[in-house]
Amino acid sequence: MQTTKTKRVKKTKSRVQKLIAITTPKLPIRRLVIPRPDVLHTYLEYNQINQYLEYIVNRYSNFVKLYTLGITHEKREVRALEINWMNPDNVELPTTLRMQAAKQAELYRSSGAKGPMVLPGDKNRNIIFIEAGTHAREWITVSTSLNCIYQLTERYTRNIEVLRNLRFIIVPLVNPDGYEYSRTKNRNWRKNRRPHKGTKFVGTDCNRNYDVYWESGPSKTQRNTYKGERPFSEPETRAMRNILDSLAPNLLFFLSLHSYGQSIMYPWGYCRDPPYHWRELHTLATCGRTAIKTYNGREYRTGSISCLTKRTIAGSVVDYVYGVLKAPMALVMELPSRELGFQPPVEMISQIGHESWFGIREMCKSAFDLRRRINRDEEPVAPRPPRAAGAGDCASAANSSGEEKKTTPKKVRMRKRSKRTILSQHADILEMQKRHKAATMMLPRRPLTAPALVRRAGQGDEPSDTV
Ligand SMILES: [Zn+2]
Repeated sequence: MQTTKTKRVKKTKSRVQKLIAITTPKLPIRRLVIPRPDVLHTYLEYNQINQYLEYIVNRYSNFVKLYTLGITHEKREVRALEINWMNPDNVELPTTLRMQAAKQAELYRSSGAKGPMVLPGDKNRNIIFIEAGTHAREWITVSTSLNCIYQLTERYTRNIEVLRNLRFIIVPLVNPDGYEYSRTKNRNWRKNRRPHKGTKFVGTDCNRNYDVYWESGPSKTQRNTYKGERPFSEPETRAMRNILDSLAPNLLFFLSLHSYGQSIMYPWGYCRDPPYHWRELHTLATCGRTAIKTYNGREYRTGSISCLTKRTIAGSVVDYVYGVLKAPMALVMELPSRELGFQPPVEMISQIGHESWFGIREMCKSAFDLRRRINRDEEPVAPRPPRAAGAGDCASAANSSGEEKKTTPKKVRMRKRSKRTILSQHADILEMQKRHKAATMMLPRRPLTAPALVRRAGQGDEPSDTV
């Protein structure tokens, strides 16, 4: 009798549980447990950046994917986020488009390929590739790339126009070892953290390590712009090369974020000649400049890298993507500003992020419009660098940086003057920060993780070492 009663109770319990299961919507547990780090008002540490990327992937899993591109010397991951509105899992797409996208995805996966999809044909040349954090101390570039992710996911309805036409791959932190070292040990650190055997020096400039006239770069290990032992000697640049090479047929516009030159620059970096399609690149850069000026009045400069930095730079990622992979468009955007240094006060993070996104979004639209005007197969061979390739130890030549640069007495005078200007500007920066603090006092308080101290992060450095 008791057994039957127990059985009946159990049966009722299981019915109730089933009912609960039916009436309660299934909530993905991981979505609830990943807190969202504040990307707009703080400089995040490496772990928090990963946490934000994971939060976004969980929250917007129908059109966002996360990939690990490589592992650094100190065992950190270089990660890329793919934002693809045309993903077959995207429930907001019309059924016909979803079916079409599913067919393409299946075809690609059946070939055994991994990573973001690569599709044949000019109509699939629609990837916007944004990379940041190559130079460890340029924290604002990392925050700005995270702002791009924020805009394209958490604010996707505002940016639906670009999402419908384009696919985004964003690498927010190319050099995580250097970034963490800059955050915790030496704010002015630029290179990665892989030591060089037989010397006391550590680190290579990842933006001199690409295989594009690499041999012309600086070859002294102690230099801030050291090119490395050989092209792609660094895990960070190998990780970038692998994804860039595989996506090359679909790349439309490559954007490399740096700071603090407040300029939008196009190739070449390695020589002073303009590229064959410089007009289109200039149009693209001007489009970004105009958008930012309209947004808040900030004025960017535009021109070629070698022209604006007044030197030639070999082995950079932008020349590699434009010159070797033949992407139709590639630019470097140097964020603001000389006055604010590499790590503007945290109060400026969202302002710089938003204004930059405004410019970047307009450039993405412009890149889409310009795509048919550029055919990289029909252009003449690119010029050689000013110094013969294979000349070897260029760094022992005329100047200590190893990068071709005219050093006239007049320029030396100008550099001295610019150092004095930097010191006199310090008071202005503190005043600017005070004003920002006063303004933010009116707003609800939010946690600040980075020290609010403003300093000339680039003190003693050449401004052109920012690229
Ligand atoms: Zn840089």
